[in-house]
This record gives sequence, C-alpha cells and structure tokens, in this order.
Amino acid sequence: MHKGADLAAAIGAASVVPGTFSTATRSGLPIGRAAGHFLAMGSKSRESIYGGSVRAAAERATEARKDADRLACAAWNKRMLGFQGPAQPSPALGDALNAGYRYLEVKCLGCNTHQTVALDIARRPKATPVHELERYMRCRDCSQVRGYPYKRSVLVALRATKISAGDPQSTWWPGER
Ligand SMILES: [Zn+2]
Repeated sequence: MHKGADLAAAIGAASVVPGTFSTATRSGLPIGRAAGHFLAMGSKSRESIYGGSVRAAAERATEARKDADRLACAAWNKRMLGFQGPAQPSPALGDALNAGYRYLEVKCLGCNTHQTVALDIARRPKATPVHELERYMRCRDCSQVRGYPYKRSVLVALRATKISAGDPQSTWWPGER
C-alpha cells in the first residue's frame, strides 16, 4: 500500500480507494474493531459489562437517600426538641421509616404522659408528613376516663424505639422559652 491509500483509510474514505476493504458506515465514519463487537453484543454481555456499574449506581442512590432521610429526621427532631416546632414541614412517614425512625413520640395534654405510636402500622400513605399523624392519635387512658376519644397531644420527636425503662422519653432541650 502506498501512502495515499493509508491516508484515505485514516480519514474513513477507504471505499473510494480501489482495492481496499471498506469499513465505512453510512455516517461515513469507520467502525472500529471494538465498536463492531459492541453492536453484536447480546443481553448477557451487556449485563457483564454494565451490570456492576448500574447496580453500584443504584446502591449509591439508595444509600444517599437513606442518608438524606436520616438527616431530615434528625433535623426535624432538633427543631422539635430545641424550639418545639414548627412541626411543619416534617419528614414523610415513609422517609422516617426508611431512616430507621419507627416511632413518633407525642405528649398527651390530658395526662402529660409521653407515648409512642408505631409508624409502620399507621394506615396512612407513605407520603403523609409525620406531623399530620398527630390528629389521629388518641390517648387510651384519657379516652377511657372521659368516655370519648381524647386526641389532644403535642408532637415531641421521631424515635427509633418505644419508650421503655432503658430508653426513656425524649426531653425538650433546656433553656428559656
Ligand atoms: Zn392522656
């Protein structure tokens, strides 16, 4: 091959040079060896080439979302415990569960006790902001004593566990009100 043919091949015009093999596509650009192989690949090799990257990206997104949900719940808790509100806006029920906050702690205004409500059994859409759950809560003791559903309470905080001896109720941060 003389130099002219080499040059023609290099710029993708090989087919116009008699006696040379054309690698040109309709776009006029030559198909490289790797790209030609790529076009012939089936779903299995796509999986082997891209699968790991696709899964890794999805896992990173899941982790980032969980981190964001945790941070949003922690921020809401700080606002509630530090300033006692405003409760709105609040994390969504599903986001709180995703972040590991399975309970909402409220303080009943009738008997002043702190109680927890399990978020995973709340029959509300996962997009419901947790502050909206307050109005559905009723204190069992106060309802029994009064003979009607007693629902006056204030939101305290989201928490991972129920209130127990080893896991006491949340306390509002000290200071002048
Ligand atoms: Zn009560």
